[in-house]
Amino acid sequence: MILMKSDFTYDLLIIGGGISACVFASKYLKNNISKKVALIEAGRGLGGRSSTRISKRFKGWKLNHGAPNFNISNSKQNLLLKNYIDELVENKFIKIDDSEIFFLNENSNLEAIKKYQFFCGINYLSLDSMSELSQKIIESNNLKGKIDFYFKTLIVDMKFNDDEWVLTSKNGDKFKSKYLICTSNLLCHKRSLKILNINQIPLRKAIPINNDKKIDLLLSCLDKQSFIPRLTFLIYANENYSYKDFYSKKQRYFYLKNNLQNKYKFERIIFQLQNNDKLGIVVHSKNIDFINSYINAKDEEVFKQKIITNFNELFEDNYLVNKLTFDEKISIMKWRASQPSGISVPLSLQFSRNYRIGFCGDWFEGEGFGRIEGSILSALILEEKIKDLFK
Ligand SMILES: Cc1cc2nc3c(=O)[nH]c(=O)nc-3n(C[C@H](O)[C@H](O)[C@H](O)COP(=O)(O)OP(=O)(O)OC[C@H]3O[C@@H](n4cnc5c(N)ncnc54)[C@H](O)[C@@H]3O)c2cc1C
Repeated sequence: MILMKSDFTYDLLIIGGGISACVFASKYLKNNISKKVALIEAGRGLGGRSSTRISKRFKGWKLNHGAPNFNISNSKQNLLLKNYIDELVENKFIKIDDSEIFFLNENSNLEAIKKYQFFCGINYLSLDSMSELSQKIIESNNLKGKIDFYFKTLIVDMKFNDDEWVLTSKNGDKFKSKYLICTSNLLCHKRSLKILNINQIPLRKAIPINNDKKIDLLLSCLDKQSFIPRLTFLIYANENYSYKDFYSKKQRYFYLKNNLQNKYKFERIIFQLQNNDKLGIVVHSKNIDFINSYINAKDEEVFKQKIITNFNELFEDNYLVNKLTFDEKISIMKWRASQPSGISVPLSLQFSRNYRIGFCGDWFEGEGFGRIEGSILSALILEEKIKDLFK
């Protein structure tokens, strides 16, 4: 149900609509079907950093512009995670990703796959788009319609008054609940000051220092956490654009070695076959100078031409990839915080009993830190922890 009204009261509110929120909500609701639960998301739909651009301008295109797929290493054989991933596979929400992965070396030649943060363990692919994966997760176990969604709703303030959480959105709508789950750390991190144009971190304002040791520790860890910015370029290739060979799988990945990344400013390139047989290309960059040159670019069109020039140079003489023709449409997504980096938050700080607030997402410790694996696992662990408390 999509609602748009002010002053709503719930048993539990979830801030964020990324994959960790969807995993948490589906598990929580399964065990507490009678509870009134709402999810509040700043964006237009579900998925967060693992979402899909469904363009209004370019009809028929669905490009995964954040995480294109995900890998599960689970080297510690965590059963909670293993069983959950098995469940997603059994439900046919995901499948093992057997797409081709290439490493481009110094001479832009193709090399065999190397161990890398995004493909150690087993890689999985959503059977539909990445946004649809989050949608399916939250609707699984017959939960469709059991949760209220508030999209395009940015929470800018939070208060804990008389045993109740009160959230205020940018538009002034109020949301109240007994329990609160934050799946993004925006409201707990100093970057909120600039982004939300406020003068105190919202969680700190809601729970002043020395009231709760766990909250103090969580905030001090986050103070040391930084973020990797990224740009993604979505290239809507022309109708007749295709590979040089007859590759027909949904996705194909090309990773660049460090020195090539420096030269071309690209990190990886993901070809994404569309349902209408067109071939979309998503180029990722985390080169800071390049990101800044985009921010300062006087003419975005000139910047876009540069992307095609670099792409063509990179794939010059490549036996799989054809060059682009410079008349392709491109849209750009700027991820201010694509992945947390540096200090991760210990899982022991995931919830405060006194304040009835829980946290999950890829910003927690573990081998999945900064990845979907960490988002899913932290959501599963949080749900286990609060199972008997948030009744
Ligand atoms: C370009 C890119 C490439 C990536 N590649 C990979 C990859 O290959 N493999 C991999 O495993 N991971 C990858 N990642 C990381 C992966 O996408 C994230 O780890 C994962 O999606 C995080 O999910 P989450 O639910 O924890 O957080 P998010 O997806 O960030 O969800 C949090 C949500 O909360 C919302 N929100 C935040 N604050 C508020 C507020 N105040 N009010 C309302 N809503 C709010 C946000 O809009 C967001 O939708 C990539 C990320 C990016 C950006």
